[in-house]
Amino acid sequence: MYDYVIVGSGLFCVVFAHEMKKAGRKCLVLERRTHVGGNVYCEEKEGIRIHRYGAHIFHTSNKKVWNYVNQFVEF
Ligand SMILES: Cc1cc2nc3c(=O)[nH]c(=O)nc-3n(C[C@H](O)[C@H](O)[C@H](O)COP(=O)(O)OP(=O)(O)OC[C@H]3O[C@@H](n4cnc5c(N)ncnc54)[C@H](O)[C@@H]3O)c2cc1C
Repeated sequence: MYDYVIVGSGLFCVVFAHEMKKAGRKCLVLERRTHVGGNVYCEEKEGIRIHRYGAHIFHTSNKKVWNYVNQFVEF
């Protein structure tokens, strides 16, 4: 039994699923691609991480947002 069925695993859905899990909710994430991450998915080639769907940049002047994303990956 799930609290949420989440269709897609792009940025929005994975953040939502992550936050709901922290709040004690059970989520089922359905994804039609063979990987999670949606359009920001990266694959590693010869030790280099490459955006499969095109280059992305990240910028923010909001400290709360900066701290949030840095819990997942080092920029
Ligand atoms: C080339 C490129 C460059 C970009 N550069 C930037 C950038 O520099 N900065 C920035 O902020 N944004 C950028 N964006 C936009 C950014 O990628 C998106 O805003 C963000 O990744 C969208 O996340 P999302 O979760 O809304 O959707 P998506 O990443 O599109 O994820 C949706 C997911 O849902 C899945 N899905 C959809 N329908 C179904 C279904 N019926 N059943 C199962 N799964 C389904 C899809 O397969 C996909 O994995 C860029 C986008 C592209 C394509």
